[in-house]
Amino acid sequence: MPRFLKSAPTKSFTDTTQADVATRVGAIISDIRSNGDDAVRRYAEEFDRWTEPFRLDDARVAEIMATLDQQVIDDIVFVQEQVRRFAQAQRDSLVDIEVETLPGVHLGQKHVPVQAAGAYIPGGKYPLTASAHMTIITAKVAGVPRVVACTPPIRGEIPAATVAAMKLAGADEIYILGGVQAVTAMAVGTETIAPVNMIAGPGNAYVAEAKRQLFGEVGIDLFAGPTEILIVADDDADPFLTAVDLLSQAEHGPESPAVLITTSEALGRRVMEHIEQLLPGMPTRDYAGPAWRDWGQVIVVDDLDEAYALADDFAFEHVQIFTAEPRAALEKMHDYGALFLGENTCVSYGDKVIGTNHVLPTLGAARYTGGLWVGKYLRTVTYQEITDTASSATLGEVCGRAARVELFEGHARSGDVRSWRHGGTQHDW
Ligand code: NAD
Repeated sequence: MPRFLKSAPTKSFTDTTQADVATRVGAIISDIRSNGDDAVRRYAEEFDRWTEPFRLDDARVAEIMATLDQQVIDDIVFVQEQVRRFAQAQRDSLVDIEVETLPGVHLGQKHVPVQAAGAYIPGGKYPLTASAHMTIITAKVAGVPRVVACTPPIRGEIPAATVAAMKLAGADEIYILGGVQAVTAMAVGTETIAPVNMIAGPGNAYVAEAKRQLFGEVGIDLFAGPTEILIVADDDADPFLTAVDLLSQAEHGPESPAVLITTSEALGRRVMEHIEQLLPGMPTRDYAGPAWRDWGQVIVVDDLDEAYALADDFAFEHVQIFTAEPRAALEKMHDYGALFLGENTCVSYGDKVIGTNHVLPTLGAARYTGGLWVGKYLRTVTYQEITDTASSATLGEVCGRAARVELFEGHARSGDVRSWRHGGTQHDW
């Protein structure tokens, strides 16, 4: 039986706050539908204090990039290369197929990129530069010809490193625009922004709700909301490292849960002590503190099998495994966005540098989807051709009978005429 050293959350995301967000987002979407750029500008000013044009042309992008230290650019290039390599390996793993299932019956499958994608790069609290690599490079490796990228200003300022990352990743259009107004403008189009076919990228509750309400009219990658971390640790784990890593994700925002599941009560207690010591000195304590206080949990279990089963129940975005045999989790666990095996790596590597995609499912969505990857920008489409008339006749006869069982006379006749053409039984209709 699990025992809580630090208890379960005191709040739920499905409370009235979520209903308020939904109402607010619905109103903004309908205003932008009716009033286009005018409404977009109003919301950009209201939420982000932004009054300049929101499209950045190439000259402005070059000016912004020139303000950055060369080291910042070099690091962006290094990380983007890691992201590109992994995305390319993913693309290479998707092979088009064509099989002959009956003589002359050719069935095929291809992967076709969406023709225009929107990349949302969050930025309300932090300049999430790495989200530009994740959303834009992945789209470009998939072969998307037009990638539109939006990120909000931060406290009224352009996030220069994020703009550089958008450009270096290959964005075709760059906008300083955030939140619901960015997602809606990309989805429905305005005088300035032509609509896209799908939108990818993480964001806060407003961004996630806008994607939810616009889904259908536009495709979306997944619901990637407030970040989550869960660590499974045995008594081999380093309590200081564990505490540091839990706080590394709690700092994303006051609603980012950090959970430790451990077979060692002593480790659990040490981790909690370290967190209390570390929190006051963190510059991001205003987010990490409430996140840990309201959402943090420390749970002691009897053995690792129980730990893995409980971790699956959480279905968290990020799961770190600090045990003597971390790779065991690959077999034992099923519900997570990304696994980080052993103490040599961590969620921060996944977020910032290592090359796997950091746009990952939250709020239980890991039960039905993985994170953003090249395949999300591709449509798996099929085609068929029959080059053997006898096979067409055989299928025509079966089609006639099968369609009539379903009372579809029109379908049946399409089968009949092909069967007759090639010597099949003539029907009377
Ligand atoms: P954000 O870009 O998502 O949101 C900023 C925008 O929110 C602003 O531009 C503004 O337009 C809008 N906004 C703010 N207050 C509003 C209000 N009252 N009404 C309507 N709109 C409002 O940036 P953020 O807020 O820093 O959030 C980023 C989120 O992304 C964090 O929760 C982080 O954990 C998450 N994230 C998730 C993943 C993932 O893969 N799951 C990855 C990275 C980041």
